[in-house]
Amino acid sequence: MEKKQFKAESKRLLELMVNSIYSQREVFLRELISNASDAMDKMYYRSLTDENLSFNKDSYYIQIIPNKEERTLKVIDTGIGMTKDELETNLGTIAKSGSFAFKNDTELKDGHDIIGQFGVGFYAAFMVADVVTVISKALDSEEAYKWESTGTEGYSITSYEKEEIGTEIILKIKDNTEDESYDSYLEEAHLKEIIKKYSDFIRYPIKMDVTKS
Ligand code: ADP
Ligand code: MG
Repeated sequence: MEKKQFKAESKRLLELMVNSIYSQREVFLRELISNASDAMDKMYYRSLTDENLSFNKDSYYIQIIPNKEERTLKVIDTGIGMTKDELETNLGTIAKSGSFAFKNDTELKDGHDIIGQFGVGFYAAFMVADVVTVISKALDSEEAYKWESTGTEGYSITSYEKEEIGTEIILKIKDNTEDESYDSYLEEAHLKEIIKKYSDFIRYPIKMDVTKS
């Protein structure tokens, strides 16, 4: 198994984001949901030009699964997925993604929430998780892969068994510290609040599936 380093600029940005006192940690969920939605849009656009592909709207949804016992939060989509190369290029370079890009002007409303209105991208997951695992099977790939990272330490990619096309993101939610509690990111009610606040406009169903152990 090969361990890879993030590109230098990614590493610095990541450190900055994870270590700075960031009042808007909850936006990580908006970013993951928006990526899931984008991935399903890509599937839809492909279906318009690929006659072998039909788009049945009922098959496209986002699943959110908090598990307090395991301290994990899963975000699962039935989108286009990522090939091994895409996992590498899309998740290995912060600067490549829309990270830290401003959301479009119409979304920039009240000034006090300015940080929360940045599109911080996939890496926002590291604000609440100390391990992020991405299991994905792309429409254009026979194989599925698992991308895993503890943040600034770099990432690994290994083969994985997954039948369905799509992506599963697993966040290992951080333990509470003296200054910060992360428990609420495993609470159904709080997650629903965050979804309502930032992802109300998403066109796909968002299903919450609470694992009770
Ligand atoms: P942006 O969404 O602005 O491009 P992100 O950092 O949020 O930036 O994501 C980086 C890239 O990773 C995306 O452009 C996309 O190609 C890929 N990606 C992230 N999440 C998913 C997902 N759930 N399914 C497919 N591709 C994804
Ligand atoms: Mg994004």
